[in-house]
Amino acid sequence: MFSPISGAGSGIGRAVGVRLAAEGATVAACDLDGAAARETVRLLGGPGSHEGAPRGAHAAFQADVSEAGAVRRLLDQVQACFSRPPSVVVSCAGITRDEFLLQMSEDDWDKVIAVNLKGIFLVTQAAAQALVSSGCPGSIINISSIVGKVGNVGQTNYAASKAGVVGLTQTAARELGRHGIRCNSVLPGFIKTPMTQKVPQKVLDKVTGMIPVGHMGDPEDVADVVAFLASEDSGYITGASVEVTGGLFM
Ligand code: NAD
Repeated sequence: MFSPISGAGSGIGRAVGVRLAAEGATVAACDLDGAAARETVRLLGGPGSHEGAPRGAHAAFQADVSEAGAVRRLLDQVQACFSRPPSVVVSCAGITRDEFLLQMSEDDWDKVIAVNLKGIFLVTQAAAQALVSSGCPGSIINISSIVGKVGNVGQTNYAASKAGVVGLTQTAARELGRHGIRCNSVLPGFIKTPMTQKVPQKVLDKVTGMIPVGHMGDPEDVADVVAFLASEDSGYITGASVEVTGGLFM
């Protein structure tokens, strides 16, 4: 298994890298923050940067997934480094720019849509093109959010981007199934990562009180589900939106 992961420098993306590597995958850790991606690769026992990395070893790549040219270059570099198209592609890169609808700026809207939705479109399209042209099967896993299903105060931009990821992934599943490519999205609930460290303690306590299992999730809880969707154990699952929420908003 050869797996590029976007947003692999932190939180859920890093946990996915660790889990897939444990399953025997070779990981291409991609992130806007190149140093963070290199740190993930070091955690996996790899050499860090892809430059000079031995062929087939875990390697780090810096790229902004919201830039079409950068994603094309990334896929080219990744394929050159591993001499084959990726078999499992996981898009974890994501940002928040929270503001109430009445005050949200156009820039906050555009930035979140560009990274969270256009970024997943660009990565999914580039990966699918590489897989279809090589005739190889694959599994594409896109990280959405439960917020895309139920909304969240202060997150019109984020909720819209995450709902979009579900529609994009379902449509990709319909178009790519005949090529042996499965596409699924994962909807985490409230997970302990740098993204939720910004949330005020009062809000954390309130939401935690609404979670049936009684606690926030760990990035590894999401990585476990990604590993299942990456594996042949989920070979008959495509177009699914799997919630990993501890029962929040069921
Ligand atoms: P995080 O902030 O810890 O990690 C996000 C990573 O994405 C960072 O390493 C960041 O550098 C990278 N990134 C940001 N913009 C990028 C860009 N333009 N190009 C490439 N990389 C970029 O956040 P996380 O909590 O691990 O979130 C991972 C994914 O899970 C996100 O899509 C997020 O929306 C989603 N999610 C998180 C939670 C949660 O509770 N933490 C819940 C639901 C969904």
